[in-house]
Amino acid sequence: MNITDMYKQVIMDHYKNPRNKGVLNDSSYLTINLNNPSCGDEVIIQIKVIDGVIKDVRQGGHGCSICCSSASVASETLVNKTLNEALEIITQFYELVKGLKYNEELLEGDAIAFSGVANFPARIKCATLSWKAVEKGIGELQK
Ligand code: ZN
Repeated sequence: MNITDMYKQVIMDHYKNPRNKGVLNDSSYLTINLNNPSCGDEVIIQIKVIDGVIKDVRQGGHGCSICCSSASVASETLVNKTLNEALEIITQFYELVKGLKYNEELLEGDAIAFSGVANFPARIKCATLSWKAVEKGIGELQK
């Protein structure tokens, strides 16, 4: 199996078995909705932040396989990170999906599987939507 197939498998696994899926009716979470009209993706991200650390990430909504699997990966990647750490990781993810150089120490795990998105510029918005939602949420908390 080559690396591209391995990455595709990781993405399909998160699409078929989404982690942290399902929005909670819990006011201790900050809820952010974002849409990507060009593809029809809609994500709902919920983050629970205690003492500046993301303690839980929930994700919901619907969209294409890239968008949904990316939301699943984001929910796993950004948990137990401080807000500033999360922002740095999100920035590295943007670099990765654009095919730019990213910091391999900051961004690791299943997120790397989205490096192939760089070959499909129209899908970059799909891949980054949920990460943008977390970034927006952090921005609101840091006001
Ligand atoms: Zn999409």
